[in-house]
Amino acid sequence: MENCLFCKIAAGIIPSSKVYEDERVLAFNDIDPQAPTHFLVIPKEHITGAGAITEENSGIVAYIFEVIAKIAKEKGIESYRVVTNYGEEAGQTVPHLHFHVLAGRNLGWPPG
Ligand code: 5GP
Ligand code: ZN
Repeated sequence: MENCLFCKIAAGIIPSSKVYEDERVLAFNDIDPQAPTHFLVIPKEHITGAGAITEENSGIVAYIFEVIAKIAKEKGIESYRVVTNYGEEAGQTVPHLHFHVLAGRNLGWPPG
C-alpha cells in the first residue's frame, strides 16, 4: 500500500534490522526498543490492524505465531510477550498489522 511505513519496510524500500523473513512475513527489530529483545512481526500483505482480520485473511495470524515460536526457539528465548495495539487509544501508531515481541526483562502485569 502506498505511503505505508511497514509496507515500505516489507518491500525493502526503507531499511530495517531483519530478524526473519520469508515470502509472507518479515520480523525486524523495533527502532525504539522497550525491552532488551523487542522485534516486530508483520505480514507483507497490507492489513491495517487486528480489527481488520477476517475469515479471508486470518490465516496469516496463525502463521505469525508459528514464526514467533520458531524465532524464540532459535534465539533461546524462553519467556516473551506478544502484543498488538489496535486503534489510537490502544497506542497503535502504524496502521499496518504488527505484533511486538518483547523479552529479556520482567515485563510486569497488568500493562500500564
Ligand atoms: P505501535 O505503536 O503501532 O503499536 O507500534 C509501532 C512500532 O513501530 C513502535 O514500537 C515504533 O518504535 C516502531 N517503529 C516506528 N517506525 C519505525 C521504523 O522506521 N523502523 C522500525 N524498525 N521500527 C519503527
Ligand atoms: Zn502497509
